[in-house]
Amino acid sequence: MDMLKKCKECQKEKPLDEFQKHKHYKDGCLNKCKECVSLNYKKKRNINIDEFIAKSDCSFSFSLE
Ligand SMILES: [Zn+2]
Repeated sequence: MDMLKKCKECQKEKPLDEFQKHKHYKDGCLNKCKECVSLNYKKKRNINIDEFIAKSDCSFSFSLE
């Protein structure tokens, strides 16, 4: 019998197989399902690039003041 775990991100109950394994978590799995993790990863990559550009713009204009 598969144990179900609720994804913190999409709030859906899924079998543990659907969660990424992570040794730092008590039950050995991340609290986000693989689907959400991969979606977040894609989003984060875009955000990080935007943040990086925004931050470098910020420090650049700041140093000019
Ligand atoms: Zn999810």
